[in-house]
Amino acid sequence: MSVHLDQRQRAMLAEMGVRVWSPVQEPQASQVSSVATATSAATAAPQAPARVAPAVHAPVTRPATPILVQRPEGIDQMDWSTLQHTVSQCQACSLCGTRHNTVFGVGAHAEPTQAPQVDWLIVGEAPGENEDLQGEPFVGQAGQLLDNILSAMGLSRQGEGQCAGVYITNVLKCRPPGNRNPKPEEVAQCLPYLERQVALLQPKIILAMGRFAVQALLRDSVPDVETIPLGKLRGQVHSYQGVPVVVTYHPAYVLRNLPEKAKVWADVCLAMAKMQTQSPR
Ligand code: URA
Repeated sequence: MSVHLDQRQRAMLAEMGVRVWSPVQEPQASQVSSVATATSAATAAPQAPARVAPAVHAPVTRPATPILVQRPEGIDQMDWSTLQHTVSQCQACSLCGTRHNTVFGVGAHAEPTQAPQVDWLIVGEAPGENEDLQGEPFVGQAGQLLDNILSAMGLSRQGEGQCAGVYITNVLKCRPPGNRNPKPEEVAQCLPYLERQVALLQPKIILAMGRFAVQALLRDSVPDVETIPLGKLRGQVHSYQGVPVVVTYHPAYVLRNLPEKAKVWADVCLAMAKMQTQSPR
């Protein structure tokens, strides 16, 4: 059976705790045509006629259901500015419904269409609250620790003076609500962006900070990487797209476990030693 409810009737039902399933506004035809088949089945705006849900629950406030759009083709061919723009428009997972900003990355100055020329790529997990609001990675407390580590290495995120050569990004470009862990499907949707960033930046070394960065970067080179404790992956130089990768703890973890700071410094020293062996550009 289908019932047609106006706004007032919907409001009354909501007061009584009855959820009405169909959207008030139908999606635009142009949006419907680009809805991803892979991701939308469970999450796209329903197309069924209005009906009253059989079970009556307490009212639930949810963010508007995002309309998930398939990731564009050809990410592996994009130039830097196209990639940046594509990320800023991305609706390939539900995080697009709760983010304030995408967080592409920050680093050495470059011409708008060019990838910055960097020796170092730092990869973290995902934007947190401050990063989501400011659109820049590692701006909260963990970011201050990262800035201190960079400073001890003679580097800085802005790359002023002689210190050019760092780029900082994350596995996920959007904040998981409440800073929960990234979900595997979110990582899968976002990873092509990081892959392309690495291909365009061509860093001489990657510092992978924390479990999610390590798993994303080493999934093809270390069998069953998700089952290996991060501590066991430290102390050796791995590889991603032919770029050396050094594994270390995430700054947020270090802030909660201050004695681990010394281990991060040991990892940074390993990475700097490896950098010495890399040929100049
Ligand atoms: N943690 C991360 O992994 N990335 C950020 O940008 C901030 C905190």
